[in-house]
Amino acid sequence: MADFELNGSTMVCGVMGDPLEHSVSPAMHNAAFRKLGLNYVYLPFRVSKENLAGAVEGIRALHIAGMNVTIPHKVSIIPLLDEVDALAQRIGAVNVVHNKDGRLLGFNTDAEGFLRLLKEQGIEAGRMHAVVIGAGGASRAVCFALASLGSNVTILNRTVQKALDCAADMAKYTGRTFAALELNPDNLASALAKADLVVNATSLGMAPQAGESPVNGKLLERRHIVADIVYNPVVTRLLSDAEKAGARIIGGLDMLGWQGALSLEIWTGCRAPVDLMRRAAAEAVKRYEK
Ligand code: NAP
Repeated sequence: MADFELNGSTMVCGVMGDPLEHSVSPAMHNAAFRKLGLNYVYLPFRVSKENLAGAVEGIRALHIAGMNVTIPHKVSIIPLLDEVDALAQRIGAVNVVHNKDGRLLGFNTDAEGFLRLLKEQGIEAGRMHAVVIGAGGASRAVCFALASLGSNVTILNRTVQKALDCAADMAKYTGRTFAALELNPDNLASALAKADLVVNATSLGMAPQAGESPVNGKLLERRHIVADIVYNPVVTRLLSDAEKAGARIIGGLDMLGWQGALSLEIWTGCRAPVDLMRRAAAEAVKRYEK
């Protein structure tokens, strides 16, 4: 296919979520489709909570080939799909939908994306006390990944019931015990005092609300490893505070690249050009930041 011509046979993929302005997935996936010479295009679909069921029907009706699912739909989409693979069921969150001959199949590539990020960074999280902030869809994948490595995990969330539910589900499927607490200054202080690894899996700090952080920077120490799965901006307020405290910091862009590459492989069966996808995502964030 010459460059990027759209025609009557173009296969459509995309991302559904709300908000979406921060997303660099279209830039990342379209760069990969071009590189692979595939007649695919990737689009953003802003879908509110009230319209999720209609949008899922739309995937079927419009013959959309594949969809990434993001904030706030990763958990609530599960009952709307025809089938959810075993890993995504255990995690309790879906970030990839594959439309296979009209049947909508759900997968989770966030957990593997996070594991690959840790591996690339040489972080042996299995020996660590981890504090995960957030209990939404992405947090579930992060918690599951950490538990699979053997980490001790404490989950803190604004809505404490969601932290408790997440901890109970993770314990059921991983056989490990999780602590679950309300996200408040006292609980954060006591959890961080014992933590080696701190992961932000909330949307706090994400553009256009960059500048917010779930953690008071005074609680961060040199011995912490601080990861933020928010990738836009590249250096969030949390990461900048952690850097000032002398901590090691890890941003969310490389995880984005891995989960995106694995999504593309599910939809197309082709091997994804992950390095190119990461470069395209990084360049798109830079353009957004300008
Ligand atoms: P989600 O399911 O909607 O969960 C959002 C989480 O953020 C919940 O725990 C929510 O707490 C918390 N939260 C939101 N606003 C808050 C506030 N003002 N104060 C405290 N907590 C707040 O969303 P998600 O799909 O898990 O995504 C979360 C973030 O991860 C997004 O920024 C997304 O872009 C990012 N992400 C990145 C990657 C990557 O590859 N780098 C992959 C997946 C997700 P409540 O439960 O109390 O509402």
